[in-house]
Amino acid sequence: MEKIKTNPAPFDVDAVRRDFPMLATELDGKPLVYLDNAATTHKPRAVIDRIVKFESEQYAPVRRGSYRLGEAATEMFEDVRKKVAAFINAGDHRQIVFTSGATQSINLVAHSFGKRLLAGDEIIISNMEHHANTVPWQMLRDEKGCVLRVIPVNDDGTLSMEGYAKLLGPKTKLVAITQASNVLGTVNPIKEIVKMARSVGAKVLVDGAQSVPHMRIDVREMDCDFLAFSGHKIYAPNGVGVLFGKYDVLESMPPYVTGGDMINTVTLERATFAKPPGRFEAGTPAASQVIGLGAALEYVNGLGMEKIAAHEQSLLEYGTRVLSGVKGLRIIGNAPHKAAIISFWLEAAHPHDVITIIDQDNVAVRGGHHCAQPVMDRFKVPATTRASFSFYNKYEEIDALAENLQKVIKVFG
Ligand code: PMP
Repeated sequence: MEKIKTNPAPFDVDAVRRDFPMLATELDGKPLVYLDNAATTHKPRAVIDRIVKFESEQYAPVRRGSYRLGEAATEMFEDVRKKVAAFINAGDHRQIVFTSGATQSINLVAHSFGKRLLAGDEIIISNMEHHANTVPWQMLRDEKGCVLRVIPVNDDGTLSMEGYAKLLGPKTKLVAITQASNVLGTVNPIKEIVKMARSVGAKVLVDGAQSVPHMRIDVREMDCDFLAFSGHKIYAPNGVGVLFGKYDVLESMPPYVTGGDMINTVTLERATFAKPPGRFEAGTPAASQVIGLGAALEYVNGLGMEKIAAHEQSLLEYGTRVLSGVKGLRIIGNAPHKAAIISFWLEAAHPHDVITIIDQDNVAVRGGHHCAQPVMDRFKVPATTRASFSFYNKYEEIDALAENLQKVIKVFG
């Protein structure tokens, strides 16, 4: 095979890999080749150690006004809110709501912002959304009698901006759109999407689950009303996520989950509610996970989001060229601007067979519908195999994937 030129990474990838204990693991004597980063990412030692320190030396109830330990834990917890705000350039940390993940962040908006919508109001999503940004809007449509409109996707995996323009109208109340597709990799032009939504007075929710970990995000520049993302896709623990919301929009929204911590006063008759973000954070928060998220953001900031994006884009370019050379392999999603995700259909075998065979060599990629069945239908495939890269991946791992696909072809072809 012809040797494909590679760009040197803007940091020492081997040194970075040594920060991630999971990347040094083996199964049956075979090193882990982890190319499933769109599903979830591994944690650097700095995140693991930070959680262990919090749990073993600093743990106390947060936000429960108590003794010094509790106050210190609360300060650490609130400090992460400021870190998140700075990370996405939100300006005001009161615009950061901690949730359990992108799914809950989107559901929060559907249940709370959605409460105000009326029959006939229109919500726009796209044909490339994750189920987390599809099902909540279908439920709201059925409950309220809203109209759900869907932006078509072009053959190359780009969003049809003409299609979007046609859907916008005076009844459009919300556009809920992914910034990066977890199947196609397509990065959507959010600034333009927001600008167009503004022309009809609609709000915009951006699903940032696949973008926030991989590119510099500036919510003020994008001018979106909401941004949702998950901790576990950005090297933080499971069970924590973020909803950014413009303060005036959050302030206008009723509570979603109710209970402790989200109130001002409660009598047996009624309750008054706290201002955001507290209004949306009922119950004892996932403090250790939030602390871990803070450490994860420090870690990626240390590497630099621009450098992370540059290396991942080089992996994407290399992976696209290498995989295009595999016989009978069709890449699904060829937009000019993509996150480092390559979904493909291999003529020789179903994705479930592909992943089972290459798993024998401890190569981890995902096979299935990726919780995005409407986009599978759009491209007329039941499933795809998906390789998704992180800054800790190496070109050699892509070679290992390609060699394993040759084995699959030999078995089935
Ligand atoms: N949106 C997109 C684009 C995703 O890829 C995912 C996770 N695969 C989600 C939303 C949901 O994230 P979580 O499961 O962490 O809530």
